[in-house]
Amino acid sequence: MKKTEKTLHVIGGGLAGSEAAWQAARMGVPVILHEMRPVRGTDAHKTDGLAELVCSNSFRSDDCRANAVGVLHQEMRLADSLIMASADRHQVPAGSALAVDRDGFSDAVTKALQEHPLITIERGEVTGLPPADWEQSIIATGPLTAPSLAEAIREATGAEALAFFDAIAPIVHFDSIDMDTCWFQSRYDKVGPGGTGKDYINCPMSEAQYNAFIDALLEGEKTEFKEWEGTPYFDGCLPIEIMAERGRETLRHGPMKPMGLTNAHDPDVKPYAVVQLRQDNALGTLYNMVGFQTKLKYGAQKDIFQMIPGLQNAEFARLGGLHRNTYINSPQLLDTTLQLKGRPGLRFAGQITGCEGYVESAAIGLMTGRFAASELLGRDISLPPPTTAFGALIGHITGGHLAADDEPGKRSFQPMNVNFGLFPPVEIVKPEGVKRFRGKEKALAKKHAIAARALNDCSRWLGVDNSTAAAE
Ligand SMILES: Cc1cc2nc3c(=O)[nH]c(=O)nc-3n(C[C@H](O)[C@H](O)[C@H](O)COP(=O)(O)OP(=O)(O)OC[C@H]3O[C@@H](n4cnc5c(N)ncnc54)[C@H](O)[C@@H]3O)c2cc1C
Repeated sequence: MKKTEKTLHVIGGGLAGSEAAWQAARMGVPVILHEMRPVRGTDAHKTDGLAELVCSNSFRSDDCRANAVGVLHQEMRLADSLIMASADRHQVPAGSALAVDRDGFSDAVTKALQEHPLITIERGEVTGLPPADWEQSIIATGPLTAPSLAEAIREATGAEALAFFDAIAPIVHFDSIDMDTCWFQSRYDKVGPGGTGKDYINCPMSEAQYNAFIDALLEGEKTEFKEWEGTPYFDGCLPIEIMAERGRETLRHGPMKPMGLTNAHDPDVKPYAVVQLRQDNALGTLYNMVGFQTKLKYGAQKDIFQMIPGLQNAEFARLGGLHRNTYINSPQLLDTTLQLKGRPGLRFAGQITGCEGYVESAAIGLMTGRFAASELLGRDISLPPPTTAFGALIGHITGGHLAADDEPGKRSFQPMNVNFGLFPPVEIVKPEGVKRFRGKEKALAKKHAIAARALNDCSRWLGVDNSTAAAE
């Protein structure tokens, strides 16, 4: 393997920075990883571990045939991702999703990076843009980038940094949940790769209970918005009280939908709505309330969530909260190798680029680490094909699908999870002998085709074997 004495500096040891450092080091490049915790904390991180998960413990669907984030998981595995290897090793049951024991996961990432001979971890805040003698650097400081560095980025780019808020879902102690009222079941009894079909705790609600709950949500005291007035929410992470404000039935068609669930204690009575909780740690002692991000005040949260049947005595290990999200206007600022235009050698990775989610952040870190390492090694940068999930993500961030913000009437750049809408479409012909090939069947066939193409193209790009893609 060709090595170099030149060093890559990665700022931020979160999901993206950890993966970037790992990828560069395995290509033979020495890396200094700068992480400010524990010297300085953030509003959401609780530990000094690298790749700490600040909210949910889920990496979402692990289905690499019909779900875009499942395809991204698989592409990252093909690329020898440290984040995916650590997640797989610390998986907890969660139906068809990949959920992890958060401490085991973060410890594994930290240990692997600490033990790598080419990686040095420096604890301390980087307060400005990388100095001129850092030949190659990556800023991966995330949605909670420390203010001085955020200010330096704003000054250097001349562009307004955009900001909005995510809301955190509460976590409940398992032994405080009334299992004579609740029952274990995954929706439609789906087993998934790492589950049992009984991975979620379900709390049933009658129509009267649901209506009382909605009233309480609407009336409950909320966190003031003074400082951040006018900040837009990201639709995938809306607080429940905001969903309730959009219509009384919104929650019943969202996180509280009763479909695919049968009350084990009373199978003949269909619940009007269901609150689900998912295992949050390997021990199974903590459960998080699925989709229950909230900006209700702490006192109101306790009172209102204890109205949920089965949670009347709930003890909360963590209540919901609100957090800032900082990201740059990447389509205008970055080139296709995620390098700041006009500033060679400085790249961005992770949520600060405007991707959304743990997996997407790590995937962008994976690519940025490879691109920066290639430059230090004097190699051409090889971009992932646009048909891959990697390519689809880069396409979104660097403007492939969006018009420039300054064009009249065009929407501004918004963070987005990976989804099949970001991939180039495929043409599907009706298979011979199949009578019905419309609607759901056709949509599923399209997903399968896009996923198979992505994994084939990704394995070709990486020069590795992909038995899953080959089997398609
Ligand atoms: C409150 C909140 C909840 C979220 N919940 C979810 C969720 O449930 N699911 C999901 O998929 N995504 C969630 N996200 C979105 C996002 O996926 C995560 O924030 C993810 O951790 C982003 O990865 P990252 O590597 O870009 O940033 P981070 O993981 O935040 O890593 C950035 C690192 O940089 C360090 N740092 C910051 N500034 C400096 C500096 N100046 N010098 C040195 N180090 C610095 C930080 O300490 C941190 O360790 C959430 C975001 C927030 C803010």
